[in-house]
Amino acid sequence: MLHVHIISRKQAKALGMKRYFTGEPCPKGHVCERSMWRECLQCKYEKDRKWKRDNADRNKAYQQAYQERNRQYFVDYNRFSPRADAARKRRVKLTKAGTLNIDDPLFMARNKARMKHLRQLAKQYEEWTGIKFEVDHIVPIIDPNVCGLHWYGNWQLIPMKLNRLKRGVITHELAA
Ligand SMILES: [Zn+2]
Repeated sequence: MLHVHIISRKQAKALGMKRYFTGEPCPKGHVCERSMWRECLQCKYEKDRKWKRDNADRNKAYQQAYQERNRQYFVDYNRFSPRADAARKRRVKLTKAGTLNIDDPLFMARNKARMKHLRQLAKQYEEWTGIKFEVDHIVPIIDPNVCGLHWYGNWQLIPMKLNRLKRGVITHELAA
């Protein structure tokens, strides 16, 4: 976490921050931010993940209860967010053009098969080159400017490092 500046708990607290970072490793050796309760965030993440694994049923029930409680929020979000709106418009446009049809089981099967194929290909590439590849959305799904769709016309295999670099530098021209 090189981008995190060293800041003591006291300083962070004075600034009203929720985390601090001393650069000192935790007892498990993570050099990571700490919460105001002095908990290493990597340890917390691992602990939470373990809890979710060990308590899968309770976790599922909890998630469902959470969604139930906030149902209206999710409904509104999906209906009114600009991102969801942009995705909907693109989906309608592509569906009209006949390139995308999520109601067609054959299309969805093809979509799934392509993803499986690309993932296998990514593994093959990695064996050949020693570089990790992953499936990339050419027009990103999550981006402040554009909204891509999850279908095979929008997928490509690129090295993972490039994919990470690409994030946040997309332009409007690319989305057109
Ligand atoms: Zn730790």
